[in-house]
Amino acid sequence: MRQLILIAVTALAGAVPLAKNWQTDADWVRARYGAWGGPGVNPAPGPMDSLALKDYAPVPSLMVRETLVPKAKYPAIDVHAHVNARTPEEVTAWVRTMDEVGIEMSIVLTGATGAQFDKLVDLYLKPYPGRFQLFCGLETRDSDNPDYPERAAAELARCYKMGARGVGELTDKGTGFGRDAKAPRDRRLHPDDPRLDPFWKKCAELNLPVNVHIADHPSCWKPLDVYQERTPDYQHFNLYGKDVPSWAELIAARDRTLAKHPKTRLIACHLGNQGHDLALLAATLDKYPNLYVDIAARDYEVGRAPRAAARFLARYRNRVLFGTDMGREKSMFQAWWRLFESADEFMPGRIWWRYYGLELPAPVLESLYRGNARQVLNWAGK
Ligand SMILES: [Zn+2]
Repeated sequence: MRQLILIAVTALAGAVPLAKNWQTDADWVRARYGAWGGPGVNPAPGPMDSLALKDYAPVPSLMVRETLVPKAKYPAIDVHAHVNARTPEEVTAWVRTMDEVGIEMSIVLTGATGAQFDKLVDLYLKPYPGRFQLFCGLETRDSDNPDYPERAAAELARCYKMGARGVGELTDKGTGFGRDAKAPRDRRLHPDDPRLDPFWKKCAELNLPVNVHIADHPSCWKPLDVYQERTPDYQHFNLYGKDVPSWAELIAARDRTLAKHPKTRLIACHLGNQGHDLALLAATLDKYPNLYVDIAARDYEVGRAPRAAARFLARYRNRVLFGTDMGREKSMFQAWWRLFESADEFMPGRIWWRYYGLELPAPVLESLYRGNARQVLNWAGK
């Protein structure tokens, strides 16, 4: 009988690996409790053992101030929006929300070229030329053909004539622009590829900034195990074990592009995916004067290190642009204002950890919200 049970258990273990008892693992204890070495409360089994990680949402008992900041202190330019409205009615509703929360202009990173881009010109720029700017995409079709480099530059010039005032969002999380995961590694269109030289030159010539998303949050390159930093909400972005270059290799390709095309301005979105290491980001900004960053979707980086982030934003106040990348809900904008302007503590965020208000001084807020955008973007009339 005992043998039978043993066989049954072994068979089960083959199908579903038995959960490791992490609590006896020294590395786990250090990651969980810090250098002092061990739990002050002895774990004992209970109902919480079977809760799903993705459902965990503790309700704090902490009583702290909650500040509602309905409108930005200065009219703001959101440099990182997408095609968040698809009909004239939706565009009007978006403008109404912008008025309510204090956004004077939204930069729509369409990523579109050709007829698709032209349609968006009709939808956004015809009715609201003063409230939106459109960034176009990069032509990536048939990038192996000899005519490709000139074709990409020509399509950019065409979109500029139609009204594009920048390019973006150009994304390379390892599979290259155009995201061809099936292309062999050496044929993927990474930013420093010589095939893109005429395109980058044309961006400089037309004075068009380029919003680039290179690499991703570094946690994407870490396994989805007990040490994974971000919540399960983010697991579909994970790249661990995939056929892509490392985070550092991708950032290096971006930096080579900045060095190779010093007259082309890049706005590396999401704090350049270096928001977890503000000293590294500062060194990178010092090295490449044509690099700017937007803060879109990195509320959880600045919100968890409010003092270091406030110092960084003050020191690099000419290099960081405000952007959201999270749709167009009123409450979303107001959450950003609360984060930047208030001194609130322990505010809810989009991730495990809570945020702390940055209480940014007025001059820093002004350049973050609109001053830099006014410097960095292309304001030429159509
Ligand atoms: Zn985006």
